[in-house]
Amino acid sequence: MRGIILLGAPGSGKGTQAKKLTESLSIPQISTGDMLREAVRNDTGMGRKAKAFMDQGGLVPDEVVIGIVKERLQAKDCEKGFILDGFPRTIPQAQALDRVVKELGKEIGSVLSLEVDEEEIMERLSGRRSCAGCGAMYHVRFNPPKEEGRCDKCVGTLLQRDDDKEETIRTRLVNYKKSTEPLIEYYRGSGKVHAVKASGNIDTIFANITKLLQ
Ligand code: AMP
Repeated sequence: MRGIILLGAPGSGKGTQAKKLTESLSIPQISTGDMLREAVRNDTGMGRKAKAFMDQGGLVPDEVVIGIVKERLQAKDCEKGFILDGFPRTIPQAQALDRVVKELGKEIGSVLSLEVDEEEIMERLSGRRSCAGCGAMYHVRFNPPKEEGRCDKCVGTLLQRDDDKEETIRTRLVNYKKSTEPLIEYYRGSGKVHAVKASGNIDTIFANITKLLQ
């Protein structure tokens, strides 16, 4: 089993689909966003450095995220494969990943580019809520909890991510277009890129992804 890269704008469903792939393929989801948020919560040196960039919708410096991913890929649970969710996000990150993967004797098998139009992204992100207790994800309109503001699973409080506020979403989308979209071209030559229509039903999108990976 080899590595899978999920490319796509913020709100394209990378995290949701990565979780489903993790379950079905039994390989870990490596989300740099989740790892950075954890570092911020734990107030580590790296977390403090990353927070200012994240709060403004900017990208955390390449050397920070490259370091995190390099270390994570060496863990035992990545031996059979891994799903990269939110990394790489810049050309230098992709180049570093190529080097790291080679060094560790691994390989990228597929690059999935999740495609959703901007209007839908705004709607998805601005309504997104997550449980402070267990991390379960909700949407005020598309997937509301039974009781407003409370998690169905653990009754934890539902929060909006600081960077899911409208102004910050716009900055994140600009950064995506400028720094991350060029990665589709970067990988195109490898013949590993598959475009996935990522609007609509989560399970239908997942079924399409599974077909593409076969
Ligand atoms: P995400 O949860 O993937 O949307 O990431 C949340 C935020 O973490 C992003 O807006 C960036 O500030 C930061 N981040 C996550 N992954 C990366 C990355 N590969 N390169 C730079 N910044 C990142």
